[in-house]
Amino acid sequence: MAKSRHGKRWAFVLALFCWAAGVHTEAGEWLDAWRTTNRVWRGVHLMVNNDEAVTALEDQLPKLAAVGVNTLILEVNYNFDFESLPELNAPGGVTAAHAGKLTAAARTLGIRLIPQFNCLGHQSWSKTTSPLLTKHPEFDETPGQFPGNTNIYCRSWCPQHPDINLVVFALIDELAEAFEADAFHVGLDEVFLIASDHCPRCKGGDPAKLFAKAVNDLHRHIVERRKLEMLMWGDRLLDAKAMKGGEWEYAKNGTAGAVNLIPKDIVICDWHYEKQTNYPSVPFLLAKGFRVWPSSWQPLAGAKAFSAFSRDQMNSRLVGFLCTTWGKVSIDAVAEWPPVVEVLADWK
Ligand SMILES: [Zn+2]
Repeated sequence: MAKSRHGKRWAFVLALFCWAAGVHTEAGEWLDAWRTTNRVWRGVHLMVNNDEAVTALEDQLPKLAAVGVNTLILEVNYNFDFESLPELNAPGGVTAAHAGKLTAAARTLGIRLIPQFNCLGHQSWSKTTSPLLTKHPEFDETPGQFPGNTNIYCRSWCPQHPDINLVVFALIDELAEAFEADAFHVGLDEVFLIASDHCPRCKGGDPAKLFAKAVNDLHRHIVERRKLEMLMWGDRLLDAKAMKGGEWEYAKNGTAGAVNLIPKDIVICDWHYEKQTNYPSVPFLLAKGFRVWPSSWQPLAGAKAFSAFSRDQMNSRLVGFLCTTWGKVSIDAVAEWPPVVEVLADWK
């Protein structure tokens, strides 16, 4: 009897393994085919907060494909119906069923979906704190400080809290599974609160090493364990003094040294919006050995200038061009938005 029960259990485990292997093989084959036909990544970054947004996007996929879009970064964050940690759901978020339907529709049109969960920084927006730090204030880098989030840009979680990764990895896994992802974007932009005097673990620490720890922990899970590609924003890796830029698109808070402490197989989304004649971060990151995905927004003149500069680099590790939207265009109008249409036309 016991033997039979064990036999059934092993049969179940074997079936699960075969199913998982089959899913991965299918996704892997799709990605191989996608790579063969898409040497250049023509991307759009969008925020999707609920199923209505997912449906609106599904309706737009043929138009997006027609203007050349072959990759979509979908920033979801906590706006998902997480089953593993439902207490961290923002209400009314995207469901796994809608995510799967969108993925299937995108694949038939040759569009690769990459989900995003913003890590480390951006754990509050204005007066609203993320579900993570609301439910788990012990993860806050500045616990009990800045009531109402006054005098700060965004909260951060503590990269050294011993339990933070258990929670974050569960959320990432669930998003990756729902979108059948072969790549994952971890955000990591505009982290201002790091190595804070208010954190008992990080006080007096080196911001570059602490930032690199967060990146390396995520890389171990996403790339080494889950075999996905990893993408992140690049601003914390760029030294504002050396690049002669501001504290948003470059770092003034000591994190830039992390550029030498993280794996080179991460795709760095290097964002700049203003019109300039030179964007030194692109050749800098390419010379470091990273793949680079230059990322624009508005104004159109800035996006066009950055696109032209990036094309001139003539480097095979420059993977294409990414257009961010940041709420300036609705999902049902994005396929006609000039900063997307006119710029991506240069990358066909
Ligand atoms: Zn800390």
